[in-house]
Amino acid sequence: MPIYEYEPVDESCEFCRGGFELLRDMNDEVLTECPKCHKPVKRVISTPFVQGHPLDPLNPGNLAEKGFTKYEKTAEGEYRKTAGLRGPDVIKR
Ligand SMILES: [Zn+2]
Repeated sequence: MPIYEYEPVDESCEFCRGGFELLRDMNDEVLTECPKCHKPVKRVISTPFVQGHPLDPLNPGNLAEKGFTKYEKTAEGEYRKTAGLRGPDVIKR
């Protein structure tokens, strides 16, 4: 069963202050109020994969910064370095 996180919209009690988690069945109706104080709450979409990992596409610029070397395969079957400092410029087969 998924654990849903909620946080108070406006007012809060000691239960919902700062947010709370509830184990909910998929079929349960959407929770819109605190089960204790019955003030409105909203569901928080948790993003565990983003926390600590800011969206940071691996473009050639930051590839090199992170110590990666990127090669792209050419039509001739060689691998040509397009980013990074390490490794030869071209890897021939
Ligand atoms: Zn409450």
